[in-house]
Amino acid sequence: MSTQQQLISALDEFIVRMPKVELHLHLEGAIQPATLLALAERNGVDLPARDEAGVAQLFRYHNFHEFLTVFMVLTRSLATGRDFEQVAYELGAHLAEQHVRYAEVMISPVQYHRRALDLDEVVQGTAAGFARAAREYNVRVGLVFDYGRQFGVDLAWRLLESAVRNMKYGVVGWSIGGDEINHPPEPFAGVFAAARRAGLQVMAHAGEVVGPASIWGAIEALGVRRLGHGIRSIDDPALLAYLRTHAIVLDVCPTSNIRTGAVPALDAHPLRRLFDAGIPLTINTDDPVFFGTTLCDEYRLAVRQFGFTADDLVQLTLTGARAAFLPEADRLALARELEEESAGLRAALGV
Ligand SMILES: [Zn+2]
Repeated sequence: MSTQQQLISALDEFIVRMPKVELHLHLEGAIQPATLLALAERNGVDLPARDEAGVAQLFRYHNFHEFLTVFMVLTRSLATGRDFEQVAYELGAHLAEQHVRYAEVMISPVQYHRRALDLDEVVQGTAAGFARAAREYNVRVGLVFDYGRQFGVDLAWRLLESAVRNMKYGVVGWSIGGDEINHPPEPFAGVFAAARRAGLQVMAHAGEVVGPASIWGAIEALGVRRLGHGIRSIDDPALLAYLRTHAIVLDVCPTSNIRTGAVPALDAHPLRRLFDAGIPLTINTDDPVFFGTTLCDEYRLAVRQFGFTADDLVQLTLTGARAAFLPEADRLALARELEEESAGLRAALGV
């Protein structure tokens, strides 16, 4: 093995073993196909797929709208608190395997509300699954309600009540996602202000498929300091300067952006340019099973496609720890733990 190859394989080992943080991850996009099929059968749900290959076929969509449709169809498999406990536990175990120490996992409350599921049961089942994973592995998870903006403001108010009621079960945040094109952030200003007053932290999907106006709206009207994606900020130098000055964090999901068509090809992805512009970034999977990726894969992609170094990767994880929806003392302790452990690992691996 040449010195260069040794370095690459040591860096790969570092990627696998380094302690990580993941802040942009949807529970519903992280369910293994075998589990989806088993849940559909248990609950008598007719899925448009009979086997794992059929589920994989559903994951081949061509644009963001197709993706949202498949997402909604597949969530029908989940029906009881026990289902949520199972998928949360499996995701917790998967995160631990990726050496993720802290994750924020979004759930899509609208889907369950519309099917008349008991949201308290959904949240408490999910929380129980992650609590079990935390007892067995070294991984901690916070829950975020990700509201589909296309369902309007009135329902958002009702679901916010449920989020607040379930803060004692680990709900830490409130977010909007869904159809960004037809539903700008501004009408949700009151809902977000109420969420913040209740003690929830807030974020928004913005600048994924819509340009800078959507990001400015999320920052100014919703008061968010963390954005899901935010990649279209690259089109607006004044916005980039604002993000940098105010340390507003972008949770970037490179493979997701390619798979949904938000970015046409990897070499057009602004990850490196955003990083070089000094914007605080994290790297995430978004919907790992849907997109056929893992957090380690995303880190590898950052190295191979965008030339990120071990230093850069550690910086991404520290940004994640500092931007987490945790009490300040916990954020600092997490950052310290990641920093120390990464330094030890780098010394041992020579990267
Ligand atoms: Zn997302």
